[in-house]
Formats: sequence, structure tokens, C-alpha cells
Amino acid sequence: MSVTTERLASGISTTPRKMLVGGVWADALDGAVLETLDPATEEVLTTVPLGGTADVDRAVRAARAAFEPGSPWRRLSPSQRGRLIHRLGDLVLEHAEELALTESRDNGKPVAYAALADIPMAADLFHYMSGWTTKIEGNTIPFSAAPPGSFLSYTTREPIGVVGQIIPWNFPLMMAAWKLAPALAAGCTVVLKPAEQTPLSALRLGELIQEAGFPDGVVNIVTGDGATGAALVAHPDVDKVAFTGSTEVGKEIVRASAGNLKKLTLELGGKSPNIVYADADLPRAVAASAGAIFFNQGESCMAGSRLYVQRPVLDQVVEGLVAEMNRLVVGVGADPATQLGPLVSREQLDRVRGYLTSGVRDGAVPHTGGQSLPATGYFAPPTIFTGAEPGMRIVDEEIFGPVLVVLPFDGLEDVVAVERANPYGLAAGVFTRDVGKAFRTADAMRAGTVFVNTWNALDAALPFGGYKQSGWGREMGHAVLENYLETKTVIADLS
Ligand code: NAP
Ligand code: MG
Repeated sequence: MSVTTERLASGISTTPRKMLVGGVWADALDGAVLETLDPATEEVLTTVPLGGTADVDRAVRAARAAFEPGSPWRRLSPSQRGRLIHRLGDLVLEHAEELALTESRDNGKPVAYAALADIPMAADLFHYMSGWTTKIEGNTIPFSAAPPGSFLSYTTREPIGVVGQIIPWNFPLMMAAWKLAPALAAGCTVVLKPAEQTPLSALRLGELIQEAGFPDGVVNIVTGDGATGAALVAHPDVDKVAFTGSTEVGKEIVRASAGNLKKLTLELGGKSPNIVYADADLPRAVAASAGAIFFNQGESCMAGSRLYVQRPVLDQVVEGLVAEMNRLVVGVGADPATQLGPLVSREQLDRVRGYLTSGVRDGAVPHTGGQSLPATGYFAPPTIFTGAEPGMRIVDEEIFGPVLVVLPFDGLEDVVAVERANPYGLAAGVFTRDVGKAFRTADAMRAGTVFVNTWNALDAALPFGGYKQSGWGREMGHAVLENYLETKTVIADLS
């Protein structure tokens, strides 16, 4: 797919958006709105409703009505449900160029990468999950407490009910797809709350959901801020919450969902270790390690943000990484040549700058990309720190920006010792030509995903999620369906 300059010039519509509640495009009941910005220009793109507690309640009621037995959604056969989900995947692909541009303008990310990664992966989730609707099966299980043949016992899998889904701003459409596709495949109904910084692609997806033919109320999209998300988590008629975002908010959600003991899945932050052994294919390790941190401006939960390099090749790898960093084309995301765009917001830029300052103050050595940054927009300089040590904030904490910390190591045990203290466990990576060493290292990592001689390789069929404080449960693959299904055991006395 190519993004034409004519399309870029035409931009995206400035018409104030509405949110989707029970099949109707609605303003907030109190008329409140939120502005969404283009982080490259700092200009307001348009407004979206700022959903309040009453709007969340309306959306939850619509989702509940759509879930009632006998509703149009519940009357669909699994095959019919699968066809709707598949059609939605097709529609995402049919509108890929427009969606990539929307994503780029609303989030700041390079349009070329949105077209290559975000949009096709979102479509893939719908296509992959559409095949599962007809394969959700229970078991017939022997009953041993009575003579053979006198009892029949079996399980069925049922959708969990009304699901609240709360997503972050870093991959807005992809996160919406990761959440919606399995929930719909399981037969649930949904209230989705996009991040306040990036609501536009989810609202466009809402239009495509209607075009695909989903019954009203199956997917409701309530735009708003953190308080909107909190209202969804607190709502007594929501059966389950699926959240992607920071570990801090994840913990708040755990506490806030205790009221009616909502089922919970959480995809949280990371500080993922990437391990380069001296025997690695170094050009490949350097290129992939640069991609691991600079892709999506480092605003990726699985960014390879802590790089361990075996001591004999430390200087060579750092030199290679600095060269890769200096080659990055920094600019407005909507320019197809851009490889590193602005961060999503002023707040995120300030946060990243704070880490850059703290790294220098703590005595680490910054190597900064030589690119001149545009005068407007939330651009952070790509940066590699050497001379850092565990205990420094830049080493221990998630930065969520284009900032890499390089640490030397001698043997795997050195890495394991530092990693044991890391509260996160989302991803890890290893680069080596030694197969045994690769798998011993993969085995030693307490992480939900381990990349061997690669990074940023995900697939709709592969489970993704965190060990430790990186979360509860898995996204994608058939593993994610478990999060949206209940098991009912039926025991019948045949006498
Ligand atoms: P965030 O502040 O946790 O926000 C995530 C979402 O939660 C947003 O929609 C936000 O709404 C909403 N929210 C905020 N406070 C809430 C509350 N009290 N109750 C309910 N919802 C609330 O995270 P972020 O800064 O947007 O995203 C970056 C973080 O997400 C990073 O830490 C990153 O590692 C993590 N992340 C993890 C994954 C993964 O798969 N594990 C993927 C992507 C990102 P508003 O935005 O409107 O305030
Ligand atoms: Mg925006």
C-alpha cells in the first residue's frame, strides 16, 4: 500500500465526532467534549465527546440489551458471527490507507509503519478470530460417582457477558482489534474506551462495525478520559474488564473492580531485556536491537529498552547502534519517509525529557541522534545511554520513549541476577549463533514472549502477555478466548 501525497494533503475530517452507543452516534449527555491533537503540529484535529458516568451507563445498558438471550446477536449461529467478524477484517483492509493516515495524525506515528504494521495486524486479528467462532467446544466427561451409563456429564463454553475494554494510545486501532476480535468471537458484547489522546481510529472502526452488519449495541464506543475508564470499571453490570495500559492504572483497576468481582485481564508495561552475545551475527543484532527500541518512538510496551551486550563486543555494538540511530529519518509522521515521529503528547515528552535529565544526573553517558528536531511538535531526541547501572531510574523504570540503556555483561548469570529484580516480564530477546545458548537463555527469561535473533515479530495466532507485573492473561492466539468464556458443567441423572 502506498500513501499518496494527494491523500496527505486532503488530511482527515475536522467534523466533531460522536460516540457509538446502542447503534446511535451520540454526544455526551452533558455535551462535554475533548480535543484530540496532532502531536506533530500541536494543532487540534477535532473534538470527541467526553463521556461521563451517565454515558457509560447508557452504553453498558445497550451492551446488556444486546447480550440478552433472544437478541439479534445471540440468535446468530457461530458461523454467522464468524462471517461478520471476517467482514470487519476485510473492511479494515479496504480502508487501510485512510486508517493509517488517521492513526498517524492522531498519534504521531510514521504513516509508513502504520500501513505496514498497525493496520494489517488489526485486520489479521479479526480474520484469525473469525475462524474460532465455530470451534469453541466443551467436553463430554466421564462421571465416576455412579454406575457407568447412569449419568451424562458435559461442559459447554458460554460468553462471559458484557465486557468493558480500556485501551492505550500507542497502537490505537491495533489495541482495539486485539480486544474486540476475541470478545466478539466468544459472543460477548462490549463497551470500548479508547485513550483520550487517540480516539479517532476506534470511532472510524465503529462505522465499519456498523457497515459490516453487527447488531446495534454489540459494540459501543465511549470516548473520554481516565474518569470515563474508571466509570466503566466501577459499573456493577459489567462482567469483565480487559485493560491495556500502565501498571499503575492496572493496579487501580484491580482494586476498583472488586465491587462485583469482575473478571480481569491486564496487559501492562515492560522494561524488556535484549541480550547480545559476542558470537551473534552483529550487523543483524544491531539492526534488530535498534528496531526494538526506536520502532513507534519507543512507545511500545515490548520495547527492547534494556540492552545487555557481552563485554568483548560492547564498543562495536554501541558504535553500530549509534550509527543506526543517526540514520533515522525524524519528522512528521504523515510524511511517508519518516521513521521516527513525535511522541503522543506534551505530557509524554516531558516524561521522557525527565528521564534524559535523570540519566545524565546519575552519571550515565548519553549518545544523542544528531538529527535536528522540528521546532513544533512533541519530538524527543533518540538517545542511547552507556555507563548506566542498575539502581538508576533509566535502567530500572519504563521510559516509553526512544531511549535505550546499554549494559555490559560477562555471562547469562549476570543478566539473570539483574532481571530477577525487574518487576516486569513482558518480552525478552537473545542474539547468538549458538542454538543451545539461545534456548538456555530463552528458558532463563521470566517473560511472556522471547525473541531469538529477531524482535517486534508478533502474530495473531501467538499468545502475547506478561509474567510478573506485566499483567494477567494473554492476548491473541486461542489462549485469549479463555478470557471471554465461562465453563458450564451439566450433570444429568439418566435413570
Ligand atoms: P494509562 O494511563 O494506563 O492509560 C491506559 C488507558 O486507561 C487509557 O484509555 C486511559 O484513559 C485509561 N485510564 C486511565 N486511568 C484510568 C482509571 N483510573 N480507570 C480506568 N481507566 C483508566 O497508560 P498510557 O499512558 O495511556 O499507555 C502507556 C502504558 O501502557 C505503558 O506503561 C505501556 O507499557 C502500557 N502498554 C502495555 C501494553 C501491553 O500489551 N502490555 C500495550 C500498550 C501499552 P485516558 O488515556 O483517557 O486517560
Ligand atoms: Mg491525538
